[in-house]
Amino acid sequence: MRAIVVGGGIAGPALGMALVAVGAEPIVLEAASTDRAAGSWFTIAPNGLAALDELDALDPVRRYGVPTRANVMVGATGSVLGRLPLGRPLDDGTPALSFRRPDLSAALMAEAAHRGVDVRHGARAVAAETADSGAAVVLADGTRVEGDIVIGADGIRSIVRTAIDPQAAAARYVGLANFGGVTRGGAASAGLDLEAWTFVFGRRAFFGGLPTPDGDVVWFVNEPREPVSREERAGTSSTEWRDHLVDLARPDAGPFADLIAAGELDLAGDSTYDLPTVRTWHRGRLALIGDALHAPSPSSGQGASMALEDAVVLAARLRDEATLAAAFASFETARRARVERIVADGARSSSSKTAGPIARIFQDAMLRWVFRHLVTERSTAATYDHRVSLGRA
Ligand SMILES: Cc1cc2nc3c(=O)[nH]c(=O)nc-3n(C[C@H](O)[C@H](O)[C@H](O)COP(=O)(O)OP(=O)(O)OC[C@H]3O[C@@H](n4cnc5c(N)ncnc54)[C@H](O)[C@@H]3O)c2cc1C
Repeated sequence: MRAIVVGGGIAGPALGMALVAVGAEPIVLEAASTDRAAGSWFTIAPNGLAALDELDALDPVRRYGVPTRANVMVGATGSVLGRLPLGRPLDDGTPALSFRRPDLSAALMAEAAHRGVDVRHGARAVAAETADSGAAVVLADGTRVEGDIVIGADGIRSIVRTAIDPQAAAARYVGLANFGGVTRGGAASAGLDLEAWTFVFGRRAFFGGLPTPDGDVVWFVNEPREPVSREERAGTSSTEWRDHLVDLARPDAGPFADLIAAGELDLAGDSTYDLPTVRTWHRGRLALIGDALHAPSPSSGQGASMALEDAVVLAARLRDEATLAAAFASFETARRARVERIVADGARSSSSKTAGPIARIFQDAMLRWVFRHLVTERSTAATYDHRVSLGRA
């Protein structure tokens, strides 16, 4: 089976590798070139790492990951509101790992190419088509790529989703602009827990920081605001953004104002979206995985992990079911309830980052209660402990 995968982020190369493992011939089409891309850090939880491991793809990328055992929640006054372990480590002891997203994506694409996946950069799909006899993708330069199926792993603004259902729901702005950066050598003075993200529910924004084994601190800021416009992005320098972020952090206890002032900005003013439900998951020879299908708000910490799970499950169904229709239907049955629950959980966490001034007065007490009774190691186990299988003999 010749499978055209649109998108070479996280889901795309993982699906490419999974398809090779089940005997298919995948092509991965990625719009971007191979240049170093800007990007923030994210965490692959044990459920996502287990999916990578199922593809024998964890070892090739683990050197890019920073061990991350827990999220430590802190209020604006510096008091600890809760500590949430990031799931049971894998059987070999590997805990959740945090990666710089473009680094993980590039490493997965390189590994996929190494395994014989036909990986093409600079290949932007503009249309996807399905017919009884086959499927095709049209690229921006007019090239037509033909195969047996087309899988959209093309993220939140998926063109394959639109080809499946022109009325498909669009992504929803979650009310936060995202900024990310690194402070070289910042770990010694920051006093942050090692192998953990420290999250500060600040007065004006939400902050996260993770010390790396090299002694740096990677950090991000989520600012509640309207989406950053193209004009604003073009007209704001890195230094201006950084000064603004320092102002946001100043009213709060903790190291973030100093860390940001001494840091380098890697990602500025990225608007964050989610995609709660997609009505039609597949049509004819077209189907979707990853953010194209179910983008959670970044607050869920699960988008990439779910994308990796999807890749394993879809490849196994394509191998095991008698028809394409049965494979796509069985994939949907296996995945829909889980991914929609995680997206809904993410939307709830996101709203705690956009609390208004009145809500903020009660926020610390409320969050302390939430992390004691509602969002706990036990309640998150169904997310983190989930394991998918390629079911090889
Ligand atoms: C700020 C932030 C923090 C996050 N934190 C976490 C976290 O801690 N843990 C976690 O698991 N997830 C996190 N996520 C979510 C995670 O980044 C996504 O869920 C994950 O990247 C989804 O992978 P994907 O491959 O489906 O989509 P993407 O990573 O978006 O990849 C899609 C790819 O398709 C390409 N593409 C798009 N259109 C076309 C086209 N027409 N033709 C060809 N190529 C195309 C794009 O260039 C891109 O490379 C976070 C997201 C954000 C924004």
